[in-house]
Amino acid sequence: MLIKEIKELRSTIKSWKREGLSVGFVPTMGALHEGHQSLIKRAVEENDKVVVSVFVNPTQFGPNEDFDSYPRDINKDLEICLSAGANVVFNPEPSEMYYGDKSTSVSVSKLTDVLCGAKRPGHFDGVCLVVSKLLNIVTPDKAYFGEKDAQQVAVIKRMVRDLNIDVEIVACPIIREEDGLAKSSRNTYLSAEERKAALVLSRSLEIAKDTLKNGERDARKIKEFILNELNKEPLAKIDYVEIIDSDSLASVDIIERNILIPIAVFIGKTRLIDNFTFEIYTY
Ligand code: AMP
Repeated sequence: MLIKEIKELRSTIKSWKREGLSVGFVPTMGALHEGHQSLIKRAVEENDKVVVSVFVNPTQFGPNEDFDSYPRDINKDLEICLSAGANVVFNPEPSEMYYGDKSTSVSVSKLTDVLCGAKRPGHFDGVCLVVSKLLNIVTPDKAYFGEKDAQQVAVIKRMVRDLNIDVEIVACPIIREEDGLAKSSRNTYLSAEERKAALVLSRSLEIAKDTLKNGERDARKIKEFILNELNKEPLAKIDYVEIIDSDSLASVDIIERNILIPIAVFIGKTRLIDNFTFEIYTY
């Protein structure tokens, strides 16, 4: 079922809750692919009812970013959601979500000073505002986010903790194309040549993984391996490569705990992100 109004969504969810049913929620910006599908399927497995939101949120895009050109196809998205087992697709207009005179902001500090937060000013304020609004509207038992956006997961978890929002945040693994490229709605922007070049992201992370497995613990050296690989690709322009603590997102020199290696790289005009988590006790 497609719902466009908050009022109708709320009354549907209230009727489920009166029956004692649990609700899972998957927030998305649409242009759905197998990455989103994996979140929806997990939500379907773990809850009685599942709501997917499809909303290209204007407040999380910077002035020179791709809000206008972001791919939109609600009919295809609806089909994907329903075939993955979702019960409701919530697809509001921006005017349904935002009052013209809105005065409230939601801002998570510290965790947003680095990585995409530093490179995309205001991005996480927009994400936190829309996610807190959606969590208030849907009131789910569990909400599902992809580890592809690792900083987003950390920021949302912190926001939910700090604001005592009554929801469990479930982080789901990155889904990749067969050749390793992390699935993303923005991959559709890539030309055939850029699509090949984009493999440098996952390849450079694989090199880092192998080096870590072989016992290297100097973060500076690992970073150098990644930068070297990325620099070999003429179409790639590095935005950031970091080696950080998975929870605090603070920079790490010697790898002694679980770490996250997030990277952001422009391939042509398209900005792609990828990451991997190294769990030190596994090796
Ligand atoms: P988006 O529509 O890009 O805002 O993404 C909606 C949700 O899907 C976010 O929680 C993303 O992290 C997640 N997601 C996007 N791509 C992937 C992927 N390749 N694997 C797993 N989750 C993903």
